[in-house]
Amino acid sequence: MKRLSAGAAARLKGIFGERMSVEEEETLLASYDATKKTGMPAAVVWPESTEETAALVKLANEEGFAVVARGAASGLTGGSVPADGSVVADFARMDKILEIDRRNLTALVEPGVVVGELQRQVEKVGLFYPPDPASNEFSTVGGNIAECAGGLRGLKYGVTRDYVLQLEVVTGGGEIIHTGSNTIKSVTGYDLTRLLVGSEGTLAIITKARLKLIPLPEGIATAVAYFRTPHEAGEAVSKMIEERLLPRALEFVDGVTMGIVAKSKGYRFPQGAEALLIIEVDGGKEQVAADIERAVAVAERQGAIAVERAKDKAARDRIWEMRKQLSPSLYAASPDRVNEDICVPRDRIPETLDAVAEIGKRYNLVVCNYAHAGDGNIHVNFLVDTTDSGIMERAEKAVEEVFKLTVSMGGTLSGEHGIGLSKKRFFSLEVAPVEMALMKAMKRVFDPNGVLNPGKIFPDE
Ligand SMILES: Cc1cc2nc3c(=O)[nH]c(=O)nc-3n(C[C@H](O)[C@H](O)[C@H](O)COP(=O)(O)OP(=O)(O)OC[C@H]3O[C@@H](n4cnc5c(N)ncnc54)[C@H](O)[C@@H]3O)c2cc1C
Repeated sequence: MKRLSAGAAARLKGIFGERMSVEEEETLLASYDATKKTGMPAAVVWPESTEETAALVKLANEEGFAVVARGAASGLTGGSVPADGSVVADFARMDKILEIDRRNLTALVEPGVVVGELQRQVEKVGLFYPPDPASNEFSTVGGNIAECAGGLRGLKYGVTRDYVLQLEVVTGGGEIIHTGSNTIKSVTGYDLTRLLVGSEGTLAIITKARLKLIPLPEGIATAVAYFRTPHEAGEAVSKMIEERLLPRALEFVDGVTMGIVAKSKGYRFPQGAEALLIIEVDGGKEQVAADIERAVAVAERQGAIAVERAKDKAARDRIWEMRKQLSPSLYAASPDRVNEDICVPRDRIPETLDAVAEIGKRYNLVVCNYAHAGDGNIHVNFLVDTTDSGIMERAEKAVEEVFKLTVSMGGTLSGEHGIGLSKKRFFSLEVAPVEMALMKAMKRVFDPNGVLNPGKIFPDE
């Protein structure tokens, strides 16, 4: 393991005091994320201000160590897995909601705020922060902005990028800069905010964000439709959109995943159901009652064998709890898994699901898919039993085929999890050399000495 020089460690201590540690129990805790990939940092610091963060990055440039920002480490592509010998900046102590501005419908927040807490606080005053990753109860605003998190309501409301008005960040050179405007419109110069959203902590470290809020919808209606095949459920998604329905959520779960969550959490599903769609609409009370019935009617025309309507909030919460248990249940069901988040044009979901099933069969792998189907964003999982020798190689070949298929469908390698470490070797399947060179040039402008989160996004040279 690489260590900091004695001089660098002493200077770090000078900035952070007790909030700096080189102890193994702290560096180990900062060495992984939800991918189970690991890298050993030399130290961990807990900034409490933008100025401390800037001092850290300046020191990194002078002493030649890397800095890796860390939120809740729930990332699924290794984004916050530290480079060996780096310093992890853990934003757990910058977790304040600084302002909820009810006249302008914005919130000013620090990066360590947990997204679910922000949602609850703004809902108390009748406002709504729509981005809703299934990890909302633990992932942070900083991590969501750095990954451009999506989630359960993307179809109607978009993703994190659509709600970031302004950022305060520290660049890789250690300067504190402010991007965007506290207005709904702004075209003053290049849109640096959009560039920074989704940049995975490689261009700058976010220390404050002003987020757009909207009025909390008056009514919500939720239903679950069950189908005999994933293909039928996929067709129902396309049909609803073609019929100009815009549910706020359209979540797909295939039969294998349903079987796993049923076994591990005790859920019961109708017999013969090999796919389900969670349909949720919001808006005025009368409108939602009409919209949910229109959506259910489409599902039934596309072959739904059963439909459950949530009668009250408790029933709706149970449906979403089941959805949020999918990922943990898959972790529990298999010693390991390969989990991807491809995104295809929505009308290509049925053929993509069929082709992924065929790839799984060819490589003799258990495939489980669930999807933010309204966004075309499919979480393809290959379950990996590590006692089966050769399975990892088969899974990796299968993943490569899935990515090639995605690109051939006009899709993208990542809808919401980013590239990080996990997908960087596939990056050039989608990004042409000239575009990659432009991206690398931007990285050099923001981070001339390459101190921020090295080794991520771009393929190894
Ligand atoms: C069960 C489960 C469900 C999930 N569901 C979804 C989902 O529905 N939709 C979705 O989009 N994702 C989902 N995710 C993935 C993950 O929660 C998101 O990627 C989330 O945005 C990561 O936030 P985090 O706070 O955990 O960040 P981390 O994992 O700690 O970091 C992620 C990236 O952000 C960078 N970063 C963190 N803080 C900052 C900062 N202050 N400044 C600059 N860069 C920073 C890190 O360096 C890293 O590159 C899920 C994960 C799990 C485990």
